Amino acid sequence: MKAVVVGGVAGGMSFAARARRLAEDAEIVVLERDPYVSYANCGLPYHLGGEIGDRDALLLHTPQSLAESLALDVRTGPEVLAIDPARRTVAVRELTAHADAAQLSARIAAGEWVADLRSRQVFAAGHVRGSQVAAAQRDLARIGIDHLAGAADGTPQEWAGGQPLESFPVASFADLAAVRRHRPVTILDVRRALEWAGSRLDGALHIPLQDLRARIGEVPGGEIWVHCRSGYRAADAGLSLVTGTAAARAA
Ligand SMILES: Cc1cc2nc3c(=O)[nH]c(=O)nc-3n(C[C@H](O)[C@H](O)[C@H](O)COP(=O)(O)OP(=O)(O)OC[C@H]3O[C@@H](n4cnc5c(N)ncnc54)[C@H](O)[C@@H]3O)c2cc1C
Repeated sequence: MKAVVVGGVAGGMSFAARARRLAEDAEIVVLERDPYVSYANCGLPYHLGGEIGDRDALLLHTPQSLAESLALDVRTGPEVLAIDPARRTVAVRELTAHADAAQLSARIAAGEWVADLRSRQVFAAGHVRGSQVAAAQRDLARIGIDHLAGAADGTPQEWAGGQPLESFPVASFADLAAVRRHRPVTILDVRRALEWAGSRLDGALHIPLQDLRARIGEVPGGEIWVHCRSGYRAADAGLSLVTGTAAARAA
């Protein structure tokens, strides 16, 4: 007997494990489009809430451990597009088809999203114009972005096709305090209104990130220090400022 299971995690892995117990000699293939095939969904709120600190504690099995313990052939990455019961075939698409520098440039030029999965510090140090910080593929799927057109590894220098990389400096609040003693700078706070109401830096200009593009003309010229709570919104705002203030002032 040969069985193809579409989707892992709860129902799919339960079926595959049960099928193995019923048929020791069966060939059982599990096709899971996400990178993770067995994890504790119910533990996610506890991880987000900080009670389960180690994210890996939620991961129960890997394709390797399922191959060893249950002789299952688990393949992560393929998305099943169609099932043909008459021919007993499934059509699959690999979510992470490799993209080269030319394809990346063309997609960015066409206005498509390019997700840069490196840390925000590494992103700040050098990235391809048009790419955006995002979480991992599974997180994208969880918010409804199922279809990744391709993926690239390597370095931004390789993807940029000879174009200069964009970057912005990253600093601490201690750096900001030191700089303010020597020269006037604009401090732009891009947190939400409730966070701003709770506490704020003296003399800061408040424009929530979601309003920044529309209100970019309110940002004065000169040296701008952007802050939020953890740095991600500030990095996003930094990108908007690099591309938006010049255009707003020229208009
Ligand atoms: C945060 C959270 C907390 C939860 N807490 C609890 C709890 O405490 N108690 C409880 O009983 N339940 C809980 N649940 C619900 C429980 O996790 C789900 O009911 C259960 O996972 C559903 O099982 P499933 O097999 O139908 O789907 P899933 O577990 O979602 O598995 C489906 C899998 O199929 C894959 N897939 C889908 N389409 C394709 C395709 N075309 N090709 C390849 N792969 C595909 C998906 O990527 C996915 O991994 C929780 C869920 C969440 C999100």
